Amino acid sequence: MKKFFVYSALALLLLLGVFMFVLPAQVTKRANAVLAQAPYTPSESALALHQRLEIVDLHCDALLWNRNLLERSKVGHVDVPRLLAGNVALEAFTIVSKVPFGLNMERNDSNSDMITVLAIAQRWPPRTWGSLKERALYQAKKLHEFAARSQGKLVLIKTAADLQSYLARRQTDHNLTAGFLGIEGAQVLEGDLANIDVLFDAGFRMMAPTHFFDNDIAGSAHGAEKGGLTEKGKEMIRRMEAKRMLVDVAHASPQTIDDVLTIATKPVLVSHTGVKGTCDGARNLSDDHIKRIAQTGGVIGIAYFDAAVCATDVQAIVKAIRYTADLAGVEHVGLGSDFDGAVSTPFDTAGLVQLTEALMAEGFSEKEIGLIMGGNVMRVLQENLP
Ligand SMILES: [Zn+2]
Repeated sequence: MKKFFVYSALALLLLLGVFMFVLPAQVTKRANAVLAQAPYTPSESALALHQRLEIVDLHCDALLWNRNLLERSKVGHVDVPRLLAGNVALEAFTIVSKVPFGLNMERNDSNSDMITVLAIAQRWPPRTWGSLKERALYQAKKLHEFAARSQGKLVLIKTAADLQSYLARRQTDHNLTAGFLGIEGAQVLEGDLANIDVLFDAGFRMMAPTHFFDNDIAGSAHGAEKGGLTEKGKEMIRRMEAKRMLVDVAHASPQTIDDVLTIATKPVLVSHTGVKGTCDGARNLSDDHIKRIAQTGGVIGIAYFDAAVCATDVQAIVKAIRYTADLAGVEHVGLGSDFDGAVSTPFDTAGLVQLTEALMAEGFSEKEIGLIMGGNVMRVLQENLP
């Protein structure tokens, strides 16, 4: 009997070990595949143009996984060495706080949560296990720590002045990259709009009202009801604008996008999306929304994965970029990879030159490619960050 208990305890420990050490690594690897691995062999002209660009990506979830972002990993899509290899000037590090089990694009409720399991399995601090706000603050702290330990290679951008001085330094030193913080879903406020200040103080400069489920702020494109902004949600938009935080309508329901566009006085962003014109899907933007987002002066970040562009190759990304540029103007299109967001992509961030090359082949001019690959988002950030 005693032996039975010893064996049971050992088996339990072994399971726990697998759960906490093996499983997270396997999940991050399988969830974030790269379909065509390095080495990437672009033409010389593509490489030359790529090196002259100031590239911005509006969305990556690299902070969700327990990777040391200062080391080059064979797993996932984004880390500092690969941002440098891809000549990325600025990456948005976005926070995931809660994702329902049985996740789908059409309809999710908010009764279950996979991120609780992931937080425990990845040995995040216990304060994050029961608090969505703490999950956001913990991931923000991770980015601050990576920046502090990066020997100046990773710069954290919080103000327009930060951005200006960083870009001036980068003129002569290309061995620099930068990040800024965003949030997927205002459930991280935990019902209290005063937490906008807490998150702002932690460095967050962009937030989407919803992620995969409806919350007390707004309806999600993937939610049960898919409603619009609540009264609290409208107040949230006003407070975010007053603090110069950017509003991101990725994952928002059509009604939420309408409501945001009705009250927004600043440029509206879509950090990662597809467009219905090339790929009809629950989360992708209608022509009307594309045009109205452009009218705010905003930018639409085209994502790289199957549900956004209906294929897994670089041509599908370029097709969505072309469609959006033709409809709304090339000044309103950008990149929104969704790297490390549990998606498979044709290349990782080190391989972005493939996109530059494909945009050249599509016939975009050098100036237009500069705007698409980062110039447009830089403009919005320079004019709208605090
Ligand atoms: Zn997302």
